[in-house]
Amino acid sequence: MVSRVIPVDTFDLVIFGGTGDLARRKILPGLFRRFIAGQMTGESRVIGAARSELDDAGYRDLVCEAIAEFGGAEKDSGRLEEFLARLHYVPIDATGEGGWSDLRDLMRDGVVRAFYFSVAPSLFGALAERLHSNDVAGPDARIVVEKPFGRDLGGARELNATLASHFDERQIYRIDHYLGKETVQNLMAIRFGNVLFEPLWNSHYVDHIQITVAETVGVGGRGSYYDKSGAMRDMVQNHLMQLLCLIAMEPPSQFEADAVRDEKLKVIRALQPVEPHQIVRGQYDAAAGAASYREDAENPRSFTESFVALKLGISNLRWAGVPFYLRTGKKLKARSSEIAVVFKDLPHSMFEGDEKRHRNILSIRLQPNEGIDLQVTIKEPGPGGMRLVDVPLDMTFADALGDEAEAPDAYERLIMDVIRGNQTLFMRGDEVEAAWRWTDPIIEGWEARSDVPKLYEQGSSGPEDAQMLIHRDGRRWRDIRG
Ligand code: NAP
Repeated sequence: MVSRVIPVDTFDLVIFGGTGDLARRKILPGLFRRFIAGQMTGESRVIGAARSELDDAGYRDLVCEAIAEFGGAEKDSGRLEEFLARLHYVPIDATGEGGWSDLRDLMRDGVVRAFYFSVAPSLFGALAERLHSNDVAGPDARIVVEKPFGRDLGGARELNATLASHFDERQIYRIDHYLGKETVQNLMAIRFGNVLFEPLWNSHYVDHIQITVAETVGVGGRGSYYDKSGAMRDMVQNHLMQLLCLIAMEPPSQFEADAVRDEKLKVIRALQPVEPHQIVRGQYDAAAGAASYREDAENPRSFTESFVALKLGISNLRWAGVPFYLRTGKKLKARSSEIAVVFKDLPHSMFEGDEKRHRNILSIRLQPNEGIDLQVTIKEPGPGGMRLVDVPLDMTFADALGDEAEAPDAYERLIMDVIRGNQTLFMRGDEVEAAWRWTDPIIEGWEARSDVPKLYEQGSSGPEDAQMLIHRDGRRWRDIRG
């Protein structure tokens, strides 16, 4: 099935940090794919900005190399030159005064103006202020800001206040690329677009919910950055929290930015505080030929966690008593992200001799092989009575809907949403602050207790204590499968 591509309005997108890793790996190859897909109209332009002294030709060379490295199949489309012709470059230091008038002269009236802050968060304030004071942005401009959005509540508030002094909330797009994933949006389509699930989506029918984001990579290469953050700040406060919100929120009155974000915010506000026995931190150990976390982080005394597993509860009518188990970590046995809704056992089985516990499980796979799978119980084929067996009703999107390559990746989709002016899949300032308000006491508790993370074997499912966290409730984690 060929996906329908709706062109967006003509835009000028300025990428501050246009020479950096994120721009080269994700943003620019993504824009190229949208260009090929026909979504970027003829007059739209991309303007790179950073301190490096490049001209348009030099920037086009840099982007050409980035697309050769990260562009996927589209790099051979024969349309690269056409795309490169839409690129420009202005040397600008976010903290200096040079270059701003050149940028202002380059911007056009009557097209969407968007500014992607793909630079360190410490530069967000300087950029916002200079965009404003040099009259580059305009009242309808949009700004896109990357994670991390603060490293605690105080930092997030400060950042929100800085941005708010120059831009309205409706102009600010805080990216969490998990929200741009096809399956994450499908989660909402499944919940709210089918009559089947919503009546069961509550404590009467759901036994528990698991959210797993497992990676096989370590922190090597970005160890010193990661060591100041850790899995709680880097993954749980944002990505896992966003997934939790979408799974747990009440149906919004419409699929519209503030209606969705209001409901997500209510979930975060209803989260119960996490007691120390409800959370396990881990750090990957050295393995044959592979460095330990501490070696990768170049910090022999690091207490930073590369793994977190936690159990949490939501204080509202829908979810009272239903545990949510979340875990994320690095150097685990497979790269796999999944949300699993595990339904309760049948109150009575009429099938004599059937002692096995059969459960319906709705599993939403974010990676790899984005798709949805519903475990159902059926009769084992053949004679010999009613023996029951659990089988998956599997819907891998690539199989069901055609070439997966046609689905835009998360960054592509989110950038196009910025141009459309659709904030539904972006975090609002109060949401981010509420998530930090819940996260901060957990981290402060670790710091106050000088909590030492448990070591775990590389290629495992995390520390033994993480198994105990769920086993003592008579439940088990789902296997981490790639
Ligand atoms: P990076 O590779 O270090 O690139 C930083 C960019 O900022 C470069 O283009 C650099 O170019 C520019 N820059 C630095 N100082 C500047 C200044 N004073 N004025 C103007 N430009 C300046 O960083 P990155 O990995 O691309 O990350 C960018 C942002 O995205 C960060 O906030 C990061 O946390 C976030 N992020 C990154 C990833 C990722 O996968 N890389 C994922 C999620 C979030 P010059 O040196 O030429 O100025």
